[in-house]
Amino acid sequence: MPKGLLIVISGPSGVGKGTVLKEFIEDPALKLSYSISMTTREKRPGEVDGVNYYFVTREEFERARDNGELLEWTEFVGNYYGTPLKGVEELREQGRNVILEIEVEGCRQIREKCPEALTIYIVPPSMEELERRIRGRKTEPEEIVQQRLEKAAKEMQQIAEYKYVVCNDDVSLAADIIRVIIERHMERAK
Ligand code: 5GP
Repeated sequence: MPKGLLIVISGPSGVGKGTVLKEFIEDPALKLSYSISMTTREKRPGEVDGVNYYFVTREEFERARDNGELLEWTEFVGNYYGTPLKGVEELREQGRNVILEIEVEGCRQIREKCPEALTIYIVPPSMEELERRIRGRKTEPEEIVQQRLEKAAKEMQQIAEYKYVVCNDDVSLAADIIRVIIERHMERAK
């Protein structure tokens, strides 16, 4: 059995990464497993601990990081985010394709450790549309919205570091494109 792929999906806050992923993540043919990150940010309405993230305190995060329990980590708009190491390798050994939904700095750390990682960046059709989507979510105060928009503008200058860039203008089309990319890489890994 070939080892599973390590797939990084990035994209600015509000671009709809989760919505695109939902379209194909349960497809048994793709053998995907979503890596649940650890974060210190506040839970948004509807988010569930252990499903969307492991919500932890700064002390808990720092302890995990300092004990070498994270594959990568970063600080994003005032909060820590990181990928627990445990699970990722075991799942790949079992042939599962593991999806990390992380930002640009984390992707850089992954590329250093796993140059074979399949990296995909999702872009919005325009910055105006991105702003509309972030505001539409109505979950963050204005100051945080501004910081996330600034971060998005900076991140978008670094998309050349990714193997693929996919525009999320139409959710099902973006999902189909990513599905094909994953299928092709699975065939290649055989
Ligand atoms: P949000 O607060 O909107 O859920 O996530 C903020 C940003 O952090 C998003 O770009 C998301 O992809 C990224 N992110 C989520 N989990 C991780 C992680 O474990 N590591 C890194 N580096 N970024 C993460």
